[in-house]
Amino acid sequence: MAGKLQVSIDLNVCVGNAMCPHLAGKTFDLDDNRQGHVIDPNADTRENVMEAAEACPVSAITVVDTESGEQLFP
Ligand code: SF4
Repeated sequence: MAGKLQVSIDLNVCVGNAMCPHLAGKTFDLDDNRQGHVIDPNADTRENVMEAAEACPVSAITVVDTESGEQLFP
């Protein structure tokens, strides 16, 4: 059984292209500075969160399984 996800965005590299909220809209949003923002790391399916992380053009998104401690992305 997979654990919950911990999701973070490196704001030093995020270019605010809105790909992550487009692919996992319950997890990601853009803040007022047009940078990615995590709303709830477990609101979308794990597949959708992984898809968003993989689609980020600057690999700003890190995904960790909180139960196993495994870093799922990058
Ligand atoms: S996909 Fe990456 S670059 Fe685009 S808003 Fe999300 S974190 Fe930022």
